[in-house]
Amino acid sequence: SEEVDKIRLEYVRLFQFENKLMPSTWIVIRIDGCHFHRFSEVHEFEKPNDKEALNLMNSCAVAVLEEMRDIVFAYGVSDEYSFVLKKDSRFYQRRPSEIVSAIVSFFSSMFVMKWKEFFPQKELKYPPSFDGRAVCYPSTEILQDYLAWRQVDCHINNQYNTCFWMLVNKKGKSKSEAQDYLKGTQAREKNELLIKEFGIDYIELEPMFRQGSSAFWEKEEATMAHENGASMENPHKKVTVKHCDMIKPDFWRAHPSILN
Ligand code: ATP
Ligand code: ATP
Ligand code: MG
Ligand code: MG
Ligand code: MG
Ligand code: MG
Repeated sequence: SEEVDKIRLEYVRLFQFENKLMPSTWIVIRIDGCHFHRFSEVHEFEKPNDKEALNLMNSCAVAVLEEMRDIVFAYGVSDEYSFVLKKDSRFYQRRPSEIVSAIVSFFSSMFVMKWKEFFPQKELKYPPSFDGRAVCYPSTEILQDYLAWRQVDCHINNQYNTCFWMLVNKKGKSKSEAQDYLKGTQAREKNELLIKEFGIDYIELEPMFRQGSSAFWEKEEATMAHENGASMENPHKKVTVKHCDMIKPDFWRAHPSILN
């Protein structure tokens, strides 16, 4: 009978490996677009930075924070986003495969649902996908270093990409010529190139391009919350997206409650 079969088959459960993220540590889930180099070409993203594509990523991240209340902070750049879960989170009993897959699939669905809002004139040509991984950070200091590491990466890539696309688009260089031209140049040389050849002061570029985007819960002024029709269960908080410097400690000093 089915009852006997059920008992006989129960043993397959033993093959599931009970994997859990270390207790009392910050959990970071980093998701990254799969083959977005191609995705950005097929969908004719502006190079080096398509603003609407970044706004779409940010909007999806805000939706993730609103949906999964254990996430206290998120940082995004290019096709990636890092989500920080609070130290004592019991989301999916801290099982990494469930946490990662839930965030990745929710984000991907949002990306498709919101596409038209950000690209009303562009057809979504094929379904985008994201991969994700989970890492635990045992102290707030190391978590802050993790976020600073992603931001340094954003800065270095943006500086390189800005030079690269200027050489290609404004100087008529081929992609391999531009690559050779920039090989081995220091940050200072790249800034000089931008100023001298293109009249661009790097520091004047959009903060979103230079610093990436941070999404977190912020208290609203009580009166503003009323005007925006904030929900009853959470009348004074909303997710905001800012472009801040996380390499210096000032940001964390100014927002002590985020990682309390
Ligand atoms: P993988 O699948 O290994 O992640 P990938 O092609 O997605 O490969 P990444 O290293 O993740 O490679 O880089 C993402 C690429 O997507 C960037 O190099 C850039 O070409 C493109 N891209 C992502 N977001 C934007 C954007 N907002 N504007 C322009 N290009 C973008
Ligand atoms: P969890 O998030 O824990 O998985 P859940 O609500 O998804 O919670 P499941 O145990 O996965 O719970 O069960 C899926 C439920 O979805 C079913 O109990 C049923 O109510 C509903 N469901 C799924 N597929 C169908 C379907 N094809 N027709 C009708 N109901 C469905
Ligand atoms: Mg990848
Ligand atoms: Mg990618
Ligand atoms: Mg990437
Ligand atoms: Mg289910």
